[in-house]
Amino acid sequence: MTGTGVVPRRSLASLAAARLEKTVSADAVRHNLAVLRAAAGGRRIMPVLKGDAYGLGAPALADLLVAAGVPALAVDTVAEGAVLREHGIGVPILVMDVDVADNAEDCARYRLMPAVAGPEQVGRHSAVARRRGEPVTAWLRTNVGFNRFGPREERDVDAVLDGLHRARAAVRVAGVFAHLSSSATDPGETAEQAEVFRARVGRARAVLGGHLTASLAATHGLLHPAALRGTDWVRPGLGLHGLLLPGSRDLPGWAGSGLGRLRPAVAVRARVLDLLTVTRAEGLGYDRSAAVAPGRRLATVAIGFSRGLTGPAPAFTGLLRGRSCPMVGRPGMDCAQFDVTAVPDARPGDWMTLLGPERTGDGAARGGGGPVRTAADVGAELGLTLYELLAALRMPVRLEGATPAAQGDDESAAPP
Ligand SMILES: *Cc1c(COP(=O)(O)O)cnc(C)c1O
Repeated sequence: MTGTGVVPRRSLASLAAARLEKTVSADAVRHNLAVLRAAAGGRRIMPVLKGDAYGLGAPALADLLVAAGVPALAVDTVAEGAVLREHGIGVPILVMDVDVADNAEDCARYRLMPAVAGPEQVGRHSAVARRRGEPVTAWLRTNVGFNRFGPREERDVDAVLDGLHRARAAVRVAGVFAHLSSSATDPGETAEQAEVFRARVGRARAVLGGHLTASLAATHGLLHPAALRGTDWVRPGLGLHGLLLPGSRDLPGWAGSGLGRLRPAVAVRARVLDLLTVTRAEGLGYDRSAAVAPGRRLATVAIGFSRGLTGPAPAFTGLLRGRSCPMVGRPGMDCAQFDVTAVPDARPGDWMTLLGPERTGDGAARGGGGPVRTAADVGAELGLTLYELLAALRMPVRLEGATPAAQGDDESAAPP
C-alpha cells in the first residue's frame, strides 16, 4: 500500500508555500514605477534590487522591471549581480557597495559595474581589466555624509580622481553617485549634501570628462528638489514596493511629487495549523513563560523565527476573519500563537494576514476599506524599519499578476 501515483507529487516549494507566503503585486510594482518615473521628471530610473530585492525576489522583479523598460539596475554585491546575470538579465547593473577584492574578477566576468570610492579599488579593477584585456566600466561612489564608503574630505576625493585619471584606459567611469543620509527627515542637511555632491560631480567631470552622468536621489530624494537638480538618474528601492518612511508627507517636495499615489505591493499571510482552548493557568511554551488565562482560545499559526519573526513582540497582531488577534508569547521555530478568542468561527487552514490587505476565502482581495495591516504598523510592532521588515520576513515569494516567464518557482529566499 504505497499510494504513490495516486496523488500527484507537488513541488517542494509548494509544500512550504501551502503554509505561508509573501506576495508582491506585479500591477502595484508597475504602477509604482510609473509614479516614480513621473516624479523623476525625465531622469532615468535605476531600480535598486539589493538584498534579493528587499527579500521580495530579485530575479522575477528584474524581469518585470526590464520588461517595463528600465535602462539599468543596482544591487549591493557582486554575488547579487551574478544571480541576475545567470537569470538572463542583460541591462547594465551597478554594484553600489564596495565589494571584497576577491570578487573583482567576477565583477568583470559578469559585466557588472563596480563602485569605486578609493584609490585601492581603482587599482584592483584596473589590474583585472589589464589581465582580461578589456576595460571595466565603473561608477565613482562619493561620500557626502552617509559615511559608509569612500573619503569625506575633498583632498582625498582628489586622490581617487587622480587614480581614475591615470587608469583611464582600463577603468572607464560612467557616472558619479552618492547616498543621502537624511532624505526622509532633514531638508536642510539634504540640501547641503546635494550641494557638496554637485561640486564633486563638477570636479569629476573636469578631471575625467563631461560625459559623466550623476545620480543622487533614492526614493526619498525625490521629495527634495535640491537633490534632483543637475542629476541624470534616480535609484529607488522602497518606493517600487509602494512604501515611504514616516514623515515623508512633511518634506518640501511632497506636494509636487505625486508620491502620494504609490500603492503598497507586499502582503504576508500564514495558515492556522491548530486551535486550542486554554484550560489551565500554567502558561505556554518553553518555561511556560507566557501567561494566558483559562478560557482564551489560541491559534497556532505557521510563521516562526526561522521566517524572521523573532523575539517577544507584545504589540504584534494578525488579522483573522476581519478581527485583529494579538500574538502571545515568543514565536517558535516554525509557528507562533495568537489569541483568537474574538474569532469563534476560526478554523484550521484559515489564512491569517500579517502584512497587507486581508482577503476573502476565494482569494480575492476584499473591496477597499477592508482590514489592512500596514507596513508602518507592522514595522512599529516588531521594532523594525520598513527596510528591515521586508527583508527580515523570509518565506516563499509569489509575484502575483506577472507573466509566467517572470514567475519565480523556487524558494530561493528561504534558508536551507
Ligand atoms: C538602498 C539604496 C538605495 C535605495 O534606497 P530606497 O530608500 O529604498 O529608495 C539607493 N542607493 C543606495 C546607495 C542604496 O544603498
